[in-house]
Amino acid sequence: MFEVLLTVCLLADPAACRTERHDGGATREACAVEAGRLAAAVGADQQAERWPCVATGTTPSIALTEIAPGVFVHQGHHAEFDPHNLGDVANIGVVVGNRSVAVIDAGGSAAVAQGLLAAIREITALPISHVVLTHMHPDHSFGAATLAAGGAEIIGHAKLERALAARREHYLARARDMIGPAFAETDLATPDLAVEDSTEIDLGGRVLQLVAHATAHTDNDLTVYDRESGTLFLGDLLFLGHLPVIDGSVLGWLTVLDRLEAQPARRGVPGHGPVAVAWPEAAGPMRAYLETLVSEARAAIEAGMPIGEAAETLGHRSAAAWLLADPFAARNALTVYKELEWE
Ligand SMILES: [Zn+2]
Repeated sequence: MFEVLLTVCLLADPAACRTERHDGGATREACAVEAGRLAAAVGADQQAERWPCVATGTTPSIALTEIAPGVFVHQGHHAEFDPHNLGDVANIGVVVGNRSVAVIDAGGSAAVAQGLLAAIREITALPISHVVLTHMHPDHSFGAATLAAGGAEIIGHAKLERALAARREHYLARARDMIGPAFAETDLATPDLAVEDSTEIDLGGRVLQLVAHATAHTDNDLTVYDRESGTLFLGDLLFLGHLPVIDGSVLGWLTVLDRLEAQPARRGVPGHGPVAVAWPEAAGPMRAYLETLVSEARAAIEAGMPIGEAAETLGHRSAAAWLLADPFAARNALTVYKELEWE
């Protein structure tokens, strides 16, 4: 069975939108016909903003928690992609201004993004103007095209587009494999706006500051600060619970962290972990793990430890206190060993 997710907005007030689910019939083709009929039937005073067809039951319900006035966060599962979580494994932020909404990270599939759109319609009728991606990883970026289909601008680090293009085929094939048929509608989006250094976006009475960082978790990490509430969205520059994953530079990450920890904020939002945490205190366990990896890797290199043995030992004892130590502890050990080998 399929259903149509139909969003209509008033022409006189484009900020007044609503999303409804309609029965779309037994096949995708029938659903597309029904979607067309519904869109055509929209009143002259209204505009059909979007009408994707989704298989019934494949759009997860996405819970948003209000952590400050107008600031909502969805907590993703601590897991890798699978057919049950549909890619809902990373945190997502939603910031509501007077004029429009910004979404910070996009979930790991079109299905998650569709669930998120329905959840956003529960809290506001304002249109989504910006989809900000904190970095390239699939669990944060795969829902972007769906979220932006209504006209939102996709924004990321200046190096995001190249990074996505380089891993596109690999990422899509792997996610298809892990999530299964429900992933079928997902495709990678292309950023509309690249942040070289920093920029601001105005949601109406609410300005978000976006900062592009040097290589750390990845080479395209971006943070978002909402001045009004003092909320700092750190993406995967902050992990809690889920073992931090190094896909850039461990030394770079520690340097970026020094700077971020000096930034006062009323709360931080991690890429993985609770919806809101004390900042900078919450970075403590992650910093300790990264520093342990560095010191153990330096000692191992000094002692001439073979790389295979390093992968199986470095940082593993401290990784055991985290979730998802397997599969990421060995990968981190290898990455750090290779980075520090040439110091
Ligand atoms: Zn990541």
